[in-house]
Amino acid sequence: MTSPVDLGPGSFAEHTSLRVGGVVGTWIVARTEAACIEAIVECDDLGRPALVLGGGSNVVCSDAAFDGTVVQVAPMGITTVDQEGLLRIVSAAGEEWDELVLRSLAAGSAALAPLSGIPGLVGASPIQNVGAYGAEVSDYLVSVRVWDRTGRSVQELSAQECGFGYRTSRFKQELDRFVVLEVAFDLPVDESVCVSYPQLASAVGVDVGASADGVRVREAVMELRRSKGMVLDEHDRDTWSVGSFFVNPIVSDAVARTLPDECPRFSTPSSSDEVKVSAAWLIAASGIDPGFQLSESGARVSTKHTLAISNTGSATCEDVLELARWMRSCVADRFGVELVAEPRLIGCTL
Ligand SMILES: Cc1cc2nc3c(=O)[nH]c(=O)nc-3n(C[C@H](O)[C@H](O)[C@H](O)COP(=O)(O)OP(=O)(O)OC[C@H]3O[C@@H](n4cnc5c(N)ncnc54)[C@H](O)[C@@H]3O)c2cc1C
Repeated sequence: MTSPVDLGPGSFAEHTSLRVGGVVGTWIVARTEAACIEAIVECDDLGRPALVLGGGSNVVCSDAAFDGTVVQVAPMGITTVDQEGLLRIVSAAGEEWDELVLRSLAAGSAALAPLSGIPGLVGASPIQNVGAYGAEVSDYLVSVRVWDRTGRSVQELSAQECGFGYRTSRFKQELDRFVVLEVAFDLPVDESVCVSYPQLASAVGVDVGASADGVRVREAVMELRRSKGMVLDEHDRDTWSVGSFFVNPIVSDAVARTLPDECPRFSTPSSSDEVKVSAAWLIAASGIDPGFQLSESGARVSTKHTLAISNTGSATCEDVLELARWMRSCVADRFGVELVAEPRLIGCTL
């Protein structure tokens, strides 16, 4: 067994994409399943706070010190097996999500191409059911192997047991109970993929609902994502963010009817009397422009996308939260719709 690597004290600002947050008592990089479990069990036995992290791209961490242990889940390994027209791809939690997308394309499946370029690790992908351009991981996820901190055992959860919804899952409802160790997907063996998202269809040059070559879809997605500051790039401070700061609100039909016709609406498969509306549009229409900054704040609205809050280089967590509160109150005052944060807030509230 490889021992966990104790990095000693580090800070959330050094290890997260938003680059804010205080000093952490102990930072452990656990490179095997056994090391992950050992580190977590040790904390649980001692009653010491333990936070499980992947790549740190969807967390907003308090400026205050965290007097506990961060366990970065880092086991590696991807296996692919072609079984009767389906590609079974099993990945350890510590693999980069985008590496999994590339591996699946190379193995003959284009299914994950719309999810290209999403930062973070495979182990975090089921937590908020990551999604983009009309696809989400729950479309293909078969099972998740976890360490259950309540039952103190390794378990295999089926997709159904994960309780997936729009940017949510059982892992968000039962926060911190499960440590994801491995994720399995079944992907159709097909080098093209159906393009259901209008902006992507137009970028690829096909009709909505038509199929397109997976490599072409990936290129178009990466181009679109870069233009919105949604691909991590240390030289582009718009990407010093958590991606979208707010989820698209799901509102009742009655509320949706009060919104201007121009507000983009998306279907919600789970309900016919609810509508998902565009948070980016609501923010822009409530008077917040790209690049907007409160005075003396190191945080700003991304210059490329009104849904992202970026660190200009000097932001504190409090700067980020203050701007998020401002955006939320502008939208509530103008449209009566409450924006809800997408990232996990650690040691702080909005
Ligand atoms: C520029 C940018 C663009 C983005 N674009 C998208 C997008 O298009 N779609 C989208 O859905 N998201 C997007 N995100 C958000 C983010 O990339 C995803 O949520 C990603 O899955 C987070 O992965 P991570 O490994 O960085 O998770 P972390 O930030 O490390 O953790 C996120 C949450 O998951 C938990 N967690 C992490 N790993 C594990 C594990 N192994 N077991 C149990 N719990 C765990 C953490 O405790 C935390 O609550 C974007 C972020 C950025 C910065």
